[in-house]
Amino acid sequence: MSKIAVTGSLHYDIMLDAHHRPEKGETVMGTACSYKFGGKGGNQAIAAALAGASVRFAGAVGDDEQGRFLLNRLQGADVDTSAVQIVAGMPSGMSVAITDSEGDYGAVVVSNANQHISPETFAQPAFWQDVSLLILQNEVPEAINQQAAIAAHERGVTVSLNAAPARPLSAALEAIIDVLIVNAIEARDMSGITVSDLASAQTAAEQLTQRFSQVVVTAGEHGVAWCEQGQGSQALAAKKITLVSTHGAGDCFTGVLCTALAGQRSLTEAVMLANDAAAQHVSRQST
Ligand code: ADP
Repeated sequence: MSKIAVTGSLHYDIMLDAHHRPEKGETVMGTACSYKFGGKGGNQAIAAALAGASVRFAGAVGDDEQGRFLLNRLQGADVDTSAVQIVAGMPSGMSVAITDSEGDYGAVVVSNANQHISPETFAQPAFWQDVSLLILQNEVPEAINQQAAIAAHERGVTVSLNAAPARPLSAALEAIIDVLIVNAIEARDMSGITVSDLASAQTAAEQLTQRFSQVVVTAGEHGVAWCEQGQGSQALAAKKITLVSTHGAGDCFTGVLCTALAGQRSLTEAVMLANDAAAQHVSRQST
């Protein structure tokens, strides 16, 4: 079984449905409410575990009910949480998302404990034992990503970054990213190329391989494009499904892709598996 390390965010998500989203000064009566496990780090860790990886997670929660909910969910998916700290006096990461009757949503995320992941975790040899690949995202401080990536790189561990949400990347971090995974918006922010179909996703992937050795650009309902340094780009159409919700599609895609890469699959094989899994994900209600 391939071993993956993930560091990143854990959010307790409050999901509210309402006929429309509130305007300035307005109070809206909602129609439904649910509580979900979230945060890109946590979602990707669980997606990787479901895809068959043995996953070790480095993160932080508050000493509160929400933190216990998040830890329980990770442990229930067999994710190793021994490197998740419980930060005293700090709430767990939270998000509130409001979805309107058109299916459009707006969200507010507060990082809270996620800002306090301990960099010392990455200096522990035990954290890296048997790990062949690290997954990072951009919901925790860049300094944490950088320390984790440097420690991984020194040990010959593949470093993958799902650069979501997009933000400037330090030269030190950029130099040691092996695999970059971005959606259409992040690809545009990082390459300057507007991604509106598979052809433009391929162009963006090609451009980004000038900076990263392997690049995957997901393009929602269009599908996915990918490119490796020294090779031409390729693209794969999304599977035809009945859409239920696109929430977390990219996290599912990243977790499955990285599990396949850690299991020595080629980038092309890994993309095909991730494209299938993400299509299944968007065709069912997430829990
Ligand atoms: P993100 O959630 O990060 O914005 P995308 O929207 O690009 O990511 O979706 C990631 C992947 O999920 C896509 O590349 C595709 O494989 C799959 N996917 C997303 N939306 C659909 C859809 N409507 N039909 C089929 N597959 C989809």
